[in-house]
Amino acid sequence: MTKFFHSIPDLRGHLRRHPRPLALIPTMGALHAGHERLIEAARREAATVVVSVFVNPTQFNQREDFERYPRALDDDVAVCRRLGVDAVFAPPDAEMYPGPRFTAVEVSRITDHLCGAFRPGHFSGVATVVAKLFNIVRPDRAYFGEKDAQQLAVIRRMVRDLDVPVQIVGVPTVREADGLALSSRNRLLSPAERRTALALPRALREAEALIRGGMLDPDEVKRAAGRHLEGLAGARLEYLEVVDPVELQPVGRIEGPVLVAAALWVGGTRLIDNVLALPDPS
Ligand code: AMP
Repeated sequence: MTKFFHSIPDLRGHLRRHPRPLALIPTMGALHAGHERLIEAARREAATVVVSVFVNPTQFNQREDFERYPRALDDDVAVCRRLGVDAVFAPPDAEMYPGPRFTAVEVSRITDHLCGAFRPGHFSGVATVVAKLFNIVRPDRAYFGEKDAQQLAVIRRMVRDLDVPVQIVGVPTVREADGLALSSRNRLLSPAERRTALALPRALREAEALIRGGMLDPDEVKRAAGRHLEGLAGARLEYLEVVDPVELQPVGRIEGPVLVAAALWVGGTRLIDNVLALPDPS
């Protein structure tokens, strides 16, 4: 039976009676098959599964983006019911942020590049809200998508640096048949924009193939893959970077696994994607 909660004390009271291990999947709702994969993994590995649905205002850079973000709470609850989630936690903003905030979680270095360079304060908002959710739910395990690779790296580091007693589980990116990574923001794309958006996974696949094939100069990889993303009508490349997969620093030469990550604006919608690429050792 899926129960629905708006309030922190009610959720805590309910979870006290539930068996452990307890899994948390933090989301911003408008659930899709990518979120479903996280929930299914949690269902297999935990006795109690909690999904949070909270469009966190402190991680948006523009009010307009926050307001445009898709919301579909009734559908989300139906998805959670279907997948056997025990509790959905969908707090109003005032429950999470009842007054002025004087405390934030800042993860440095890992946030220097990629989205961190273009979205000031974003990862502080993410790390802080996830820390709050960890304290509210007190999960044994928490599930995050590799689609948001920088977010996953930030959370892993926060948990390590602050000794948070939770195991972080990364789940591979779920894609449409044509390669587009599933994202709640895909709902904002027109059919023409969606076709344009396909350049993003195409460029990343190309980068991955070039690296596997022995192209070890990151600038060369960026130039070759970037060709897919230049001159697209109605789209603008924000970044395409080759970084190490742990601290997300740009690499001078590709000598082991690297993360190739990109952000592309398609119309007014910002899409991100990434691949892990490894040179063929033979
Ligand atoms: P969001 O609701 O977009 O904040 O995402 C909630 C969680 O789902 C995050 O950990 C995301 O990384 C993960 N997620 C979103 N899209 C995908 C996807 N296509 N594949 C796997 N995980 C995803």
